[in-house]
Amino acid sequence: MNVQILEKTQDMLRFILEDVDASFANAFRRVMIAEVPTFAIEDVIIIENTSALYDELLAHRLGLIPLKTDLESFVLPQDCGCGGTNCPRCSVTLTLVKEAKEIDNQGDSVIVYSGDLVSQDPEVVPVNDLIPIVKLAKGQRTELEAIAQLGKGKVHAKWQPVATCSYKYIPIIDLKKQECTECGDCVESCPKSILRLEEGGLIIQNMLDCILCKLCEDTCDFNAIKVRWDNRIFAFSVESTGALSPEKIVKKAVEILQGKAEAFKEEIELIQEGEKSEIYRSN
Ligand SMILES: [Zn+2]
Repeated sequence: MNVQILEKTQDMLRFILEDVDASFANAFRRVMIAEVPTFAIEDVIIIENTSALYDELLAHRLGLIPLKTDLESFVLPQDCGCGGTNCPRCSVTLTLVKEAKEIDNQGDSVIVYSGDLVSQDPEVVPVNDLIPIVKLAKGQRTELEAIAQLGKGKVHAKWQPVATCSYKYIPIIDLKKQECTECGDCVESCPKSILRLEEGGLIIQNMLDCILCKLCEDTCDFNAIKVRWDNRIFAFSVESTGALSPEKIVKKAVEILQGKAEAFKEEIELIQEGEKSEIYRSN
């Protein structure tokens, strides 16, 4: 298996994964979406809410705010010694107190932003301070306590560490120069501008942008262009919500996938040794 990094930014990682099949690539993608834990607000204690939003709506909006996640210092509530009763090892409390006492000149309301949440842990804070939560008219007040916990995307999408996580096959475009009449129809048809016509003939540019639509192939009356792909090479795009770095998401997903494979191997060994045969017979 080979990995080649194509692009790396603070929230985005694009890489090529070679020598794996589609089932592995898809398992890897699904683990990144659904199994890598992040922090999200799970319980909200409303002390006062005279805003126009119902308490439930306010709690829902708070739940969807991505929070920076520290996977080394915290554990999932179900794995915590406290039994998931919100101890400092499995939860972080954020408080929010805002009142529209004074109204500014520009408008008739005060906006409560994610940055108004005060966390008891400086490492577990909203990824962006400018996510609007609610507008307060003059005299309205919101006071609440929000409890954030680690969770997994398979339970609720608010715990997904990725905004997008996708893969596609790497395109292979074959040009038969002797068949090509340089009519330029394929160049016109390509929605991603992969092809360019120059003096020497057709040129392929930015091949990784190809979406394998085969419009060029369909347009060509001379069979001079053929689009195919290698089904053991994948181009992955992992875009983080900001809760974890994209590299961390990928590394954690590898760990989780490895753990699943090892657990499966152990189960198989137990069956082979006959220890589980009773259970499977009864089922
Ligand atoms: Zn706990």
